[in-house]
Parts: sequence; structure tokens; C-alpha cells
Amino acid sequence: MKAVIIGSGIAGLAASIRLAARGMEVDVFEANSYCGGKLTVISRDGFTWDAGPSLFTMPHFVDELLALAGMDGRTFSYRKMDETCRYFWEDGTTLTAHADADAFARETEQKLGVKASSVRAALYKAKELHEATSPLFLEKSLHKATNFLNGNTLKALTMLPRFDLHRTMHEVNRSRFRNPKAEQLFNRFATYNGSDPYRAPGVLNVIPHLEHNVGTFLPKGGMHSITNALEKAARQLGVTFHLHTPVERIVVENGKAVGVWVNGRRWDADIVVSNLDVVPTYRRLLRDHKEPESILEQERSTSALIFYWGMRGESPSLGLHNIFFSDDYAHEFRSLFQHHDICDDPTVYVNITSRFERDHAPEGHENWFVMVNTPANQGQDWDAIIDRVRVQVLEKLGRIMGRDLRSDLVCEELLDPRTIEARTGSYMGSLYGASSNHWKSAFMRHPNFKQDIKGIYFCGGSVHPGGGIPLCLLSARIVDELIAN
Ligand code: FAD
Repeated sequence: MKAVIIGSGIAGLAASIRLAARGMEVDVFEANSYCGGKLTVISRDGFTWDAGPSLFTMPHFVDELLALAGMDGRTFSYRKMDETCRYFWEDGTTLTAHADADAFARETEQKLGVKASSVRAALYKAKELHEATSPLFLEKSLHKATNFLNGNTLKALTMLPRFDLHRTMHEVNRSRFRNPKAEQLFNRFATYNGSDPYRAPGVLNVIPHLEHNVGTFLPKGGMHSITNALEKAARQLGVTFHLHTPVERIVVENGKAVGVWVNGRRWDADIVVSNLDVVPTYRRLLRDHKEPESILEQERSTSALIFYWGMRGESPSLGLHNIFFSDDYAHEFRSLFQHHDICDDPTVYVNITSRFERDHAPEGHENWFVMVNTPANQGQDWDAIIDRVRVQVLEKLGRIMGRDLRSDLVCEELLDPRTIEARTGSYMGSLYGASSNHWKSAFMRHPNFKQDIKGIYFCGGSVHPGGGIPLCLLSARIVDELIAN
């Protein structure tokens, strides 16, 4: 069997490994000159930054793939972090969230004045929800009736009233904590999939389970080591990569995919897996076929503006992950999703890996990855927005840290919704495909296969089960199972 994979994002790499491990002949076509899509690296003047994802959860999904290629911890290793994130507010409140759920609960009581028992209860419920929903809604195709004929369905059904589908994340968190800072801290997990906590269903409060019950991890060498390790595993299994080779079209004959067009010629295959965002997959590669309009028109998730700053000096008050909250979170999300703009006081995320990976910055310097959530690209005046936000971010961080950051900034690289779209094919530059602002879009993403055309499969952040590294890896596992079945 010959398989073609379109795109070498994390899900494309994972699918290539799984199909090659099954003995298929696998060819990956990648538009860029490098693998990894969003999970890549930027280097300049002695600084190295992970370009996209910075938070690594569920590392066992990567281990599972490397094991298929007979590779172990010598190729790819990671450490579990003691703290998940440092939080900062304008009024001087700070909180270092420990990975240990109990320590985190005690700390929130001490620093924010919210009862430790309510934090423990929230994390316990997140764990319960994860155990009930994951086997049914994340690990299998939702679009095959046979997947529902098992005990997991019964378990999930008995828990249905506890899913909080008819309350928003924020409503659930407000009723739990009655403490604006704790609500904001738990609401921020909506941004894990680029959604709005004031609209997304309460079931998304399952997300903190990943950070506080399972843990966060840092790969040795940085996040892009994940791409490097998976690419190596794929090559070891015999996968062929065609870099700088965009697929122009999927060839369909008699209701079945039979190959792709690349470089103006046909490449035959029995199976075609698209790792490209599902919207351009339909609009560019399957343009003669009917689109599933209601799915493709789902509201997009947020995009991002990222400043990669080389900074002189060291900042002991900062950890690996740091969040500097806005004062009015509801207004921030209204700006993003209703006005398609960034408010004047955006929440800022700062990731610094050079503390752990010394060669990520020159001696006496740090590599700051500074990210602000943005709306998806609708042709906004990004150059003007970037100039405005850069000043606002430098002032905000400087104010909270009591430091003039401008004089310490030695170099800058940038990524914005336009460049994210251009470099990865993500429709409107969204980081996670469709948002999960409605329970339907949270659960009814595009299936991993196509009902009316045999031999076409979909993996990656824009399809079921969703965006982010762990779910992208699950999408590849589902595709592999569908093909095997
Ligand atoms: P993508 O990475 O979207 O790659 C698709 C690939 O397809 C690209 O390589 C592209 O070049 C290729 N392609 C496009 N068109 C064609 C064509 N015609 N022919 C051939 N190839 C083509 N997730 C987390 O888990 N944790 C985080 O902390 C996190 N933070 C993020 C921060 C940023 C700034 C960004 C951008 C994303 C972040 N994410 C995070 C999300 C995560 O990066 C994505 O969900 C995931 O990497 C998407 O992978 P994918 O497999 O869908 O493919």
C-alpha cells in the first residue's frame, strides 16, 4: 500500500510513522524547506527560540511514536517541571503555580484568598471529566457509530449532566471560586485551544487536569526537539520526505482518492492523508468537490502575535512560563472575538527556555518568546497593530517587573497571523483550527475521513479531536486506526 501525506506538521509526522510502521510505503510532501509546520525554531544572533508551541503536555504520545521506530530516551528526553506557570497581576499579586495539585491549591488560598478545597475540587472534577470524555470523545473517531458501543459510552452518559455544556467556562469558574483572580486563572485554560472562556462550554474546564494532575514537561533541546525526533523516527522507518514540494491537488477517480498532483505531475497512492488545515484542503486541493460548509464556516480560534526578543540580563522573578494578566479579561475576549482586535491592555505570555537550555542565548542574556493572543486574520492593519502592541507590552511588563526593558532588548524577530497563515497554511492564521466557543464546534469538528470519497483522511489541529500537540497526535492515531480497520 502506498500512502501520501500532505504536510509534515506534528500530526503529519505522527501519521507517517504509524503508517510506515504498518509496512506502508509513505511519501510526505511538505511545502516548506523544513518539517514541523508550527513546531519549528527561529535562530538569530546567538539566540534560539521555539517558534510555536512552548508548553508540552502528555509526552507519552511522543514516546509511543518513537517506540514504533525502536527509538528510546537517548534520542528524545524531557524533564517534568516543578512549577507550571508564574502568574502576575498589575496590583502586584504574583502566584507561582506548582505542578503538584495540593501545593497549587494551598498557594492559591494563600495568595488569592480562595479556599484550597475549591481548587482541589475543581482539579478533581477536571480529572474525572478527562477520564470520562477522553476515551470516547478524544481518542476515537466521533463519526463511527461502532465506537459508541462500549462501556465508555455508558460511563460518559451517566456523567453528561456534569459536563456543564449549558454553562460557560466562566460561569462554572465564577460559581466555584467567587474570586476574580482565581476565575481569571482558570478561565485562561480556554486559550489552550484558542477559545473564549466567556462563551466556551464549561466542559473545557477539563484542561487544567493536564497541567496540574498530569504535569508539564520541557524537552531537552527545546520544543523543536519533538519535530527533530519524529522526523528521525519517520526516516528510520523508511518514510521519504519531499521538502519544498507543495501538493497542488488531490486526484479523485470514481469516488476514491488515487494520488496527488505535485510539480505538475501525478503521484499515485492508495491513501491520501491531509495534514494541511481542512479549509484550504477543500478550497485548494479538492476544489471540484462539495465543501462541508457548516463545518468550514465554524468560527476560527485565535491567532497570535509573537515577539522573539533577545534580552540582555537575567530575570530571576520569571520562570519558564509566565503570564501577565490584563485587568479586564472579559473585555479582552470581547475585543478578540467580537471586534476582531486586540484590547489596549492584553494579557501577555512570556516563555524563557535559556534558563534550562544555556545555548538558547548568549552568556548574560535570555531568549524571550513574548506572545499576545490576536483575532484570526481578516485583513486587519497588522503593521499598525504590531507597533502599538510592542509599546504596550514593553510598558506593561516593565511596569510589573519594575525594569526598563527597552534598553535591554538587543534583537527581535516576529510572527503574526499573516505569517502564520503563509508559513503553515492555517486558514486565517488560527493556531487551533475552529474555536471551541460552542459545544457543537468543540465536539463536531471535521471527521478524520471523508464520507463520500474513499481513501482520503485528515489529521492535524483543524480536525477531530482538535488543536495542540497532544490532540494532533491523537488525530494521527485515529487516522491510523481508521486505515487499519
Ligand atoms: P501544522 O503545524 O499546521 O503544519 C501543517 C503543514 O502542512 C505545514 O508544515 C505546511 O507547510 C504544510 N503544508 C501546507 N500546505 C501544503 C501543501 N499544499 N502541500 C504540502 N504541505 C503543505 N500547542 C501546544 O500543544 N502547546 C503550545 O504551547 C502551543 N502554542 C502555540 C503557539 C503558537 C505561536 C502556535 C503557532 C501554535 C501553538 N500551539 C500549541 C498549537 C500547535 O502548534 C498546533 O496545534 C500544531 O503544531 C499543529 O500541527 P498540525 O499537525 O496541525 O500541522
